Amino acid sequence: MIDTHAHLEQIEDLEQAFENARNVGIKGIVGVSVDLESSKQILAISKASIDPIVYAGMGMHPSEAKPDDLNELTELIKENVSRIKVVGEIGLDFFYKWVRKDEQKKKEQREVFQRLVKLAKDVDLPIAVHSRGKWRECFETVKDCGIKDCVFHWFSGPIDVLEDILSSGYYVSATPSIAYSEQSQEVIKHSPIEQTLVETDCPVYYRNKFGDGQDGFRAEPKDVLRTLELYCKLKKIGEEEAALVLNGNARKLFRLS
Ligand SMILES: [Zn+2]
Repeated sequence: MIDTHAHLEQIEDLEQAFENARNVGIKGIVGVSVDLESSKQILAISKASIDPIVYAGMGMHPSEAKPDDLNELTELIKENVSRIKVVGEIGLDFFYKWVRKDEQKKKEQREVFQRLVKLAKDVDLPIAVHSRGKWRECFETVKDCGIKDCVFHWFSGPIDVLEDILSSGYYVSATPSIAYSEQSQEVIKHSPIEQTLVETDCPVYYRNKFGDGQDGFRAEPKDVLRTLELYCKLKKIGEEEAALVLNGNARKLFRLS
């Protein structure tokens, strides 16, 4: 399996996490970034990786939007374009009230997102989009820029936006949240497996109750198997069959060999 969205530089004991992943047969991890510094870190992690292979993603998360760092990040992406598999994580996050009330923050988020979408288009890389609370605008920004390859990561927005995402040929991704989040479940039920990825967004802590009786857990790449299991339960499909299609989707979207 491939974990298609992981924040590896935020994991406390990365060597242990890699070993745990190896032990359960995780072959690849797409490591995404949240800012300039983590983009540099994921590049180094990717270069040093052997098993599992780490595919580098560079971007700037909306919560970390710093327009002053954009020029340097752009240079870094251009210099390493042959190694990078995705521009991400990028997007907008207007979920919190304090953000919605802060005109400066919203302006910075939009500036960063729009510039990085355009950059991805220019260098011909897929993008991983965080669209919480600004679902429709994120979709339209991506679509209007002419982006062909995109995953709306952990999409849990309205079904009408989801339908536009799917009819545009874009992907959505499932996280372990499909164990408890009704919105995430609806999205995944509604989306064909051919346009779905599985991921962990590790090291996110998933608080809510899980079917196995545990109260919650801090995710690491190996937990993509937990996402797979939950996905298969929800979609009533066999794990082997699902894994084949879902991995194929990841290889296609991120152009992995
Ligand atoms: Zn993320």
